[in-house]
Amino acid sequence: MRKKVRAGRSARSFAVLGLLALLGSVLTGCGTPPRAVTARFAALSATPSPTASPSPSATATPMPSPTLAPATATPSATASPTITPTPTDTPSPSPTPTVTATPTPLPTPDGTPRAARAPILLYHYISQPPPDADVYRRDLSVAPELFESHLRRLCDDGYQVITLDDLLYFLTQGRSLPARPVILTFDDGYADNYTNAFPLLQKYGMVGHFFIITDFINEQRPGYLTWQQIAEMAAAGQRIGAHSRDHPDLRGKPVDYLVWQALGNGETIAARVGQHPRWIAYPSGGYDAQVIAVFRSAHYWGGLTTRQGATHRSSNIFELARVRVRGSDTAEDLARLLKLDW
Ligand SMILES: [Zn+2]
Repeated sequence: MRKKVRAGRSARSFAVLGLLALLGSVLTGCGTPPRAVTARFAALSATPSPTASPSPSATATPMPSPTLAPATATPSATASPTITPTPTDTPSPSPTPTVTATPTPLPTPDGTPRAARAPILLYHYISQPPPDADVYRRDLSVAPELFESHLRRLCDDGYQVITLDDLLYFLTQGRSLPARPVILTFDDGYADNYTNAFPLLQKYGMVGHFFIITDFINEQRPGYLTWQQIAEMAAAGQRIGAHSRDHPDLRGKPVDYLVWQALGNGETIAARVGQHPRWIAYPSGGYDAQVIAVFRSAHYWGGLTTRQGATHRSSNIFELARVRVRGSDTAEDLARLLKLDW
């Protein structure tokens, strides 16, 4: 019953926010299409064309490994206690959410190798750092006014904010991209992403990808987003991505542990947001071949690193490079960063 009431409310707020996003998009002319349009677009293309060529390489097959199917037992049941020293026994506040969404399989590649230049900007905090902030925190914090100047600069310079899905559909199937595409990503799921970044994205009719650490949200850690905020952002068309359960270095870890991370992270987000995350941002940028294999098998569409770069190829969708934005970067600096490639 409670769930129905909530669903009704979010449907209404979705309609209102969708209209606002549309207005914002029309007003600024540089935003991403509102979610309703994008969702229909995605649904139409989710069915692979019967004439599509087979997958270009054996490793690119989207078929899941049977052991990683989401229908298996809860992720924590498969965790090895020797690998995960402090698994949380009761990670979810009651009532326990249920997974109703099923992951969308990776769109079938048509076999044509492609490359696209589309800077993926990497933000963390969107707030003024506290007075006692150390050098790292200051570096990771972009003040809201500065962030807005970045968004305005993107518009002024003719950049168009697209989603990672848009990039993937270009790389795998050749669907068109705007002349100057750019993608906005926010790592770690800080609360200021909701209070400061989200309203500005709505104002400019833009969509960002927010990569969250699900155990931190479940623990209601101070300074991090809440599930309510995340659900509201998702309902308004923002994208929620995976950033692992608890932000470990995933390199060199056994398969069981990686499955626990991939499924636990993904199913928790699916249960709360209603859609499986399609993208993993590797915590601290750490990944290896096994990490890629497990997340690919768990129906993720691709992975984001912290390696600097702006050109993406159909052969490296699980190793996408990004452009880190620092707290000291002015709009002018951003314009310069966007022109670089590494
Ligand atoms: Zn992180």
